Amino acid sequence: MSKLIPVTQPFLPELNEFTPYLEEIWGNRWLTNNGPFHQRLEKELGKYLGVRHVSLFNNATIALITSLQALKISGEVITTPYSFVATSHSILWNGLVPVFVDIDPNTFNIDPKKIEAAITPKTSAIMPVHCYSNPCDVEAIEAIADKHGLKVIYDAAHAFGVNYKGQSLLNYGDLSILSFHATKVFNTFEGGAVISPDAETKLQIDRLKNFGIEDELTVTAVGINGKMSEINAAFGLVQLKYIAQAIEQRKVIDHHYREKLAEVEGIRVPELSKDSNSNYSYFPILVESSYSLTRDELYEKLKKNNILSRRYFYPLISNMSMYKGLESASVAHLPYANETSNKVLCIPIFNEMEIDDVNLIIDLIRSI
Ligand SMILES: *Cc1c(COP(=O)(O)O)cnc(C)c1O
Repeated sequence: MSKLIPVTQPFLPELNEFTPYLEEIWGNRWLTNNGPFHQRLEKELGKYLGVRHVSLFNNATIALITSLQALKISGEVITTPYSFVATSHSILWNGLVPVFVDIDPNTFNIDPKKIEAAITPKTSAIMPVHCYSNPCDVEAIEAIADKHGLKVIYDAAHAFGVNYKGQSLLNYGDLSILSFHATKVFNTFEGGAVISPDAETKLQIDRLKNFGIEDELTVTAVGINGKMSEINAAFGLVQLKYIAQAIEQRKVIDHHYREKLAEVEGIRVPELSKDSNSNYSYFPILVESSYSLTRDELYEKLKKNNILSRRYFYPLISNMSMYKGLESASVAHLPYANETSNKVLCIPIFNEMEIDDVNLIIDLIRSI
């Protein structure tokens, strides 16, 4: 049997590159709570990403939850059902009501033309997702938010290193949240960050992720423990040295798939955005009814050949038990999100993927 090809694989620098960082942690015995590596990673990420205020977190889910707290969001939050479940969970976890709006079938992002119809007197925020690193229509979303006095919190878990019209995509909206989970392009094993527009907001986020502690004697908010440890931060610093190279390697694989799969009857390869760069974090294809197999049959066929693909995002959040009772969760209200969720398959892409394996996958998809 041939070797297993995973859908993604974290890129790990040589172990001996990480050793001096561990020795430094052992030496200074500062393990967490805004240690030296934590401070350095915040600075270096800010430089690399082109953003001013980075607050590191232990994961993106806690960062999303904290962001909703920081902006004192109440009532209803408009969001997309076509995402990883953490997006909507962060809303429910705050005792808020997610209101689902359908996606644009070409970008997979929330369709701004449908947002206004979902606004009620209870709406206080919009939480869009830059799906597969495609930028949302940030201008249209900003115009709607300004008109109705709403906050915008971007779940930017897929959008590491994406620039839009000459600046970081993460500079749009009131806050943006990154994930550094092991499966993401840039990882710290577990981790995440909130990007704030100003120092005052960053200070507030930093307090909230540290139990709401202001100083030794003062706790000013019901905070949480969202801190990143020194080990994770140090690993992030090592990753950061190679991230540009890793994204370039992904780009080669993306373009190879794109070229070879373009002509396959019934397989649609979504186009990359022309207004931004991609980080090639995922390679989604849509299995149309004109293809010789259903999406699930193709998934099984690949699996039989030791290739793991992922139905990402399926099931749709709005169809999960804790959401499907909501009025906005009905299938009729979300036709494109449901259709995409039933057709999508993310096929393997990671920086160390061998071109022979890419070709093997292409051949399996082509052969009938
Ligand atoms: C990965 C992901 C998250 C959750 O990130 P964690 O760091 O694992 O908590 C949230 N939203 C989206 C869109 C994601 O892909």
